[in-house]
Amino acid sequence: MCKPVLTIVVPCYNEEEVLPESMIQISDMLTNLIEEKIISEDSKVLFVDDGSRDMTWTMIYKETLKNKHIHGLKLSRNVGHQNALLAGLFAAKTSSDCVISIDADLQDDIYKFKDFIDKYNEGHDIVYGVRRKRDTDSIFKKRTAETFYKLMGKLGVNIIYNHADYRLMSKRAINELEKFEEVNLFLRGIVPLIGFSSTTVYYDRKERLAGTTKYPLKRMLSFAFEGITSFSVTPIRFVLVVGLISFFISLMFGAYFITLKLLGNTETGWTSLITSIWLIGGLQLIAIGLIGEYVGKIYKESKRRPKYIVDIDTLNLTNQIKERE
Ligand code: UDP
Ligand code: MG
Repeated sequence: MCKPVLTIVVPCYNEEEVLPESMIQISDMLTNLIEEKIISEDSKVLFVDDGSRDMTWTMIYKETLKNKHIHGLKLSRNVGHQNALLAGLFAAKTSSDCVISIDADLQDDIYKFKDFIDKYNEGHDIVYGVRRKRDTDSIFKKRTAETFYKLMGKLGVNIIYNHADYRLMSKRAINELEKFEEVNLFLRGIVPLIGFSSTTVYYDRKERLAGTTKYPLKRMLSFAFEGITSFSVTPIRFVLVVGLISFFISLMFGAYFITLKLLGNTETGWTSLITSIWLIGGLQLIAIGLIGEYVGKIYKESKRRPKYIVDIDTLNLTNQIKERE
């Protein structure tokens, strides 16, 4: 059987601390797979520099000059993990049969590349890397992640439990992914929508090898919120239901207070009045905020701005040189 051309896409943002080690480990793994004739000689690693402000790009570029299996894609500014990943997938697509995406910090088990390829050879277009357990996470991250997955499930969004962005996609699947043109991007929700045959590979996630997480609490929460509101309008419906309920409650209150007034006991009204003003006011603000969130999304989508801009692409440079020769 013909060996597939694999590209490993690695988004990197300020990863100078971990990059020297991960470049060695990932490219060694790639060389092994080529030597074992599991993947084609043309396979490569594509490091995507997501507008880093440290030595990340310099390191990548130097390596591309030394190792023909290493390539770099430099984005013009920081666009976030999801968009950087997308930039890598689309750049890699033309010259690959399949692409594996993995983080730069070596938390995901690179020894599973072979399993991914095996599943691809069995005919699957998408292979999800799924964490067996989350014991390298803090209790807090574990709980918040659990809540997030549960919430997404309840809202009717089909996402793979404990799967981050460690996955294999075939060229065909990436071609389909390109048709999803939304600007608010939540890949973990979109990839299952492609619908091609998929399977999972289980692995244990390790601690970050070096450097610090690029997803502090604030970014994690905004990522989760983005995920939910990109995929579901249930929160808006929930607001509507709460609004209706509180409207009926206030009607009942109204009736009660009017009766009291008719009976001449008006002095009891103040507490309940001020409570209901606050209650209704609060609910209204929540509702407006939530609706604003969706309106904002529509606004962003309607502008159709590019999700990323490529500054330097060494894959393209190589092709141009080949063409000139
Ligand atoms: N990353 C990126 N752009 C960003 C933030 C992160 O390309 O704006 C990359 C980062 O370099 C890493 C991956 O996304 O390779 C995942 O980030 P990190 O490991 O910090 O997240 P965590 O594993 O802590 O959730
Ligand atoms: Mg990480």
